[in-house]
Formats: sequence, C-alpha cells, structure tokens
Amino acid sequence: MEPPEIERLDEGTIQRIAAGEVVERPASVVKELIENSLDAGASRVAVSVEAGGTEGIRVRDDGVGIPEDQLEAAVAEHATSKIADIDDLEAGVGTLGFRGEALYTVGAVSRLTIRSRPPDAEAGAEVAVEGGDVGEVRPAGCPTGTTVVVEDLFYNTPARKKFLKRVTTEFDRVNTVVTGYALANPDVAVSLEHDGRETFATEGNGDLRSAVLAVYGRQVAESMLEVDWEPGPSTAGGDHPVKRVTGLVSHPETTRSARDYLATYVNGRYVTAGALREAVLEAYGGQLAPDRYPFAVLFVEVPADEVDVNVHPRKLEVRFDREAGIRAAVESAVEEALLDHGLIRSTAPRG
Ligand code: ADP
Ligand code: MG
Repeated sequence: MEPPEIERLDEGTIQRIAAGEVVERPASVVKELIENSLDAGASRVAVSVEAGGTEGIRVRDDGVGIPEDQLEAAVAEHATSKIADIDDLEAGVGTLGFRGEALYTVGAVSRLTIRSRPPDAEAGAEVAVEGGDVGEVRPAGCPTGTTVVVEDLFYNTPARKKFLKRVTTEFDRVNTVVTGYALANPDVAVSLEHDGRETFATEGNGDLRSAVLAVYGRQVAESMLEVDWEPGPSTAGGDHPVKRVTGLVSHPETTRSARDYLATYVNGRYVTAGALREAVLEAYGGQLAPDRYPFAVLFVEVPADEVDVNVHPRKLEVRFDREAGIRAAVESAVEEALLDHGLIRSTAPRG
C-alpha cells in the first residue's frame, strides 16, 4: 500500500474542528457571552434564547462597548483586549476571559452579529460573521453597550448539531449557566428569557438573598441561612488556605432531588468541584432526607496560588493544592450556619 499523502487542512476545516472543542452546546456560547459582558463592566446583562439556544441566542449588555474600529479585531483569532503578553497572565488576570478565542470560534460555527456602541460614541456599528466569513463593519443604530446575536449554531457542522439534546435539556443547561452568573454577581441585573417568556430577572441591587429570590422563588429565599466563616484563632495557619467562606445555604427541609442547586464559587469564579459539594452535604450530617439535596450559594476565598482554575479553559473544574483542608473548612463553615440555627447537633469542634 502507498503511504497516504500528508496535507495541511484548509483553514475552514481547522476552524471548525477547533470550534467544536470550545463551543460544545448553546450553554457554552451563553457562558462566553455573559463573561464578556461582565468583563465589560456591565450592570445589566439580558440573555434571551430561542429553542433552548439551538436556534438563537442573544446577550445584551450596557458595558463599555466595542469601538467601531475594533469590531473586526473582536472577532479575529487570538485577539483580546484583556492581556498583552504572558507576563500579564503570570501576574494574574482579573477578567473572566483572556484567550481571545470565543467570538472567533462562535463565528466559525454560526451566524454571528455583534452590534455595539461605547458610551461616548455618537453612533453604533455592527459586524456579522457567517461560518467564519467576516462581513464589513457597518453603522447600526443601537443603545450604549453591546448586543451579540448567535443564530443557527452548528448549521455548518451537522455532526455536532446532531449531538445536541432535546430543547428542554439544552435550555436547562443554559438556565444553570445564567443562574450561576446571576448569583455570583448580585450587583448586576441578570435576566433570562426563553422563547419570549421571562425565566427570571434579578434586580442587581447587590443583595444575594434578593438574587436567590429572583431565581429560586420566595420559599427557597426565605429558608436560606447565612454563612460567613473565617478561620478562628485555633485554626489560623492550620492546614487549609481558606480565608473566608460566605453565602447562603438552605434549611435542611428545603431540598430538591438533584444536586443542581449547589452552586460553589472559588474566588468569584463559578466552579464545579466535587469536593466542595461533598463538603456541603457532609455538613448537613443526617439531616437531609435520602436522595435530597439542599440549595447552596457559597463563595470560597483562597489565595490565588492555591488553586488552578485553568485546568482547562472550558471546563469548570478546579484543582486545589490542599483539597482535604479546603473541604474541611467549607464543611465547618456550613456546619456553623446550621448549628447557629439549631438545625444540627454539635460534633467535634472544628474551629
Ligand atoms: P476574550 O474575552 O478572551 O478577550 P473574546 O473572543 O470573548 O475574547 O472577545 C474578544 C474581545 O472582544 C474582548 O477582549 C473584548 O475586547 C471584546 N468584547 C467581546 N465582548 C464584549 C462585550 N460584551 N463588551 C465589550 N467588549 C467586548
Ligand atoms: Mg471572552
């Protein structure tokens, strides 16, 4: 047999393969767009999706906007305003994004339109990208801020499109993402709409309980107990790096049958860390009915060098250097809140 010829893939193919690794489903697009809005200092972020996001996604914000002469750069590969070089990255990034690949990637596998107007600009402008082809930047009437519209996601990658689940499943994932950011940013008014119907809208008044009320309803909001924990004198300098744990956890009788309502954040970033969820559940001891899970919105603060959030840019997992210590600290924090309300009995002192 003749050896096959090795050929470089054409740009369009490279683009679409790479895109599939970053953008898995509508929820991943929504995540990227919300992060951009938050990075832009928005105080309002309005998300609306059609058919679970499979047909349309729109994210509108009132942030700093993108000047007309930078719209093209915004959708270019590896183009970002957030870091300039590796030194910036080493020094630590304060923004949620920095790779400059989200808009480029989404543009490769959908019909993307970005319309924007910085507050001091006289008029707005827009650029459209269709399957990676960037159109001309044109003037567009729009309010201050940025609106990103994504239509027909994966229209040019049928295999990936087929891999999408039912509309309700895709919408559930979108909802989880938007809820995650809404709870992490109570000072930002975050809203979600599905097929023209409002799912929730937070007030953006800075109050976490008010954000919980908006997303989970009154009964849950009223059952939430405050967590505010710092290491005591006995544990200061102990074998965990946790500086503070704050947030809300529900009364042990306010539960659901899924773990989806255990939202954990490390240094403000929404993460899925099995260890943190386990720690929360442990704290409830035997107080939860079998297969029932509480609500939690917990913010864990650790020194930046204790956690590697960049395990994979698209995954929400984190890795801790001292996982056992962090787990114990989070458990203590939740226990303290439950103990204060007489909802669990005291166990061995943890500090
Ligand atoms: P990254 O967020 O990693 O920089 P993106 O592809 O998500 O990369 O965005 C590219 C650039 O476009 C950003 O660095 C930012 O300058 C600009 N941008 C994207 N979305 C917005 C937005 N909603 N408001 C203002 N600027 C934005
Ligand atoms: Mg981004």
